[in-house]
Amino acid sequence: MAIQAVMKAERPREGLKIDIHCHISIVEYTDPRHPRIVRISREELLSDLDAAGFDMAVILSDRRTPPEAVSQFISAAPDRLIGFGYVNPLRPEAPEEVMRQREELGLYGLKLYPTLDGYRADDPKAFRVYEMAQEMEMPVMFHHAGMPEPQALLRHTDPEQIDVVAACFPRLRIILAHLGYPRVDETLYLARKHGNIWLDISWIYGDIRHPSYRYFLWRDLLKALNLGVLDHIVFGTDYPGIKQAEYVEMLLSINQYAVNPELEIPIKELEAILGENAKPLLPT
Ligand SMILES: [Zn+2]
Repeated sequence: MAIQAVMKAERPREGLKIDIHCHISIVEYTDPRHPRIVRISREELLSDLDAAGFDMAVILSDRRTPPEAVSQFISAAPDRLIGFGYVNPLRPEAPEEVMRQREELGLYGLKLYPTLDGYRADDPKAFRVYEMAQEMEMPVMFHHAGMPEPQALLRHTDPEQIDVVAACFPRLRIILAHLGYPRVDETLYLARKHGNIWLDISWIYGDIRHPSYRYFLWRDLLKALNLGVLDHIVFGTDYPGIKQAEYVEMLLSINQYAVNPELEIPIKELEAILGENAKPLLPT
């Protein structure tokens, strides 16, 4: 049944739109001194996807939402929702747990949180999990950004560690969430080096509703264009922190900050971020 759920996620890919970074609940840090938890139901998510014209979404496990809860959440809409599991790869049982989440829970990929779980992504003890994921053709998404919490150490978001993982596992599809903020330049360069790295644009900077957010997004996507990696940028929101319709509107209007037309990002390339670029990361 679980395998069927994975297979059912196959969709016609023409004009596909997918949000690759959704949670059932998130801690929202617009005001870093007063974080708050936002939760949604499956009905709310499907209704928000419909409102934005989105076909599919990836639902991520995390420390508040265990893989079992994600499996249950996606089970009623397997044609639209893809689940990602979660492990701490340093735990001895982690590789078997990855296999169980794929085979028993029908979860297609993995989400890892080095900064919250306190490990280096290139710790050799984590390699067993990368091997298993590569073997099972599971994409692995890293939370690859800071978090405004004292215990979430920036040393565990260092792009140099991902560089090692990508070099050692060239068939492992790696997604780096949040453009690697605050190390965006180095993270973009990783995508230039490694064809098996994709970057998502889910909630990157601080205040998502301040106009500066669009400006920063234009600036960083312009760097991606310059580095030749715009086709490895994929759309994610960090839903329910922000809804798909709002974020698409923001993405498609970033050229207002181009100081002259030569610095605009071609609209076709912005539209490809909404779905086309993510095709290699989806079930075939
Ligand atoms: Zn997230």
